[in-house]
Amino acid sequence: MLQQRTLKSLTRAVGVGLHSGQRVELTLRPAQPDTGIVFRRVDLPQPVDIPVSALAVSDTRLASTLSHGGAKVHTVEHLMSACAGLGIDNLYVDITAEEVPILDGSAASFVFLLQSAGIALQQAPRRFIRITRPVEVREGQGAAEKWARLEPYHGYKLSFEIDFRHPAVDATGQRVEFDMGTGSYSRDIARARTFGFTKDVEMMRANGLALGGGLDNAIVMDDYKVLNAEGLRYNDEFVKHKILDAMGDLYLLGRPLIGAYSAFRSGHALNNKLLRELLAQPDAFDLVTFDDERQAPRGLAQLAPAW
Ligand SMILES: [Zn+2]
Repeated sequence: MLQQRTLKSLTRAVGVGLHSGQRVELTLRPAQPDTGIVFRRVDLPQPVDIPVSALAVSDTRLASTLSHGGAKVHTVEHLMSACAGLGIDNLYVDITAEEVPILDGSAASFVFLLQSAGIALQQAPRRFIRITRPVEVREGQGAAEKWARLEPYHGYKLSFEIDFRHPAVDATGQRVEFDMGTGSYSRDIARARTFGFTKDVEMMRANGLALGGGLDNAIVMDDYKVLNAEGLRYNDEFVKHKILDAMGDLYLLGRPLIGAYSAFRSGHALNNKLLRELLAQPDAFDLVTFDDERQAPRGLAQLAPAW
């Protein structure tokens, strides 16, 4: 049986929120089979659980926010991406503020935390959402056009194209495809950092956003070049970060996908719209488990060593 996974032990990290600039403590804890991923605001007078769900996404400006019972958690996508990449099904995420810490701006720190805690196999089958016919969402026209699409595929792969006219981005790849069956999430995707432009940062700060952002947790560009002294981690780091974000946004479904995602200039808002469109079309997917791991598509059965 292809089994559900959680952590072997708990693990902690401290950081700041990208937008709030607030100090926040994060504790990742094992959870029972079929719990899913649940954020818990332990700083509130009564702790509030915020379960992961595509329908709990309440705000997608700059980051993905989940809400439940009046409580919120912002910027969940990089941690969710690491969970998707390592195949973590069940997890409690205790946080002491409204925003998940940005750490190094990628998913690498979360991958390190999850792997350090160890991954445990559980006595329950992993349940996948398998795409059975294409679902697509589109917005805008001409230069403003963007779209995102899910379609049947025996495995899980993502392709993304960006269209940034900027001297520092033009020279790098604007399109990338990542297949879980042939690639390695932690090697190929997890280290890609979020990015921003100095001129936007000034405007965002004036609006109380990006208060925790800087060269330690983002690629920062002026009108001409990357300002980070160490340069880029991948030559196509920008578009790889969009894949990282998409994996986190899609994992808000609460179950891993079997299918192919492709997108042009998509973001958190359109990714969530795609999930809602999928859920509104129950004949476009089914739920599957694998009694025999060998029947599962490549890359889904051995996402990370469980030790
Ligand atoms: Zn991101």
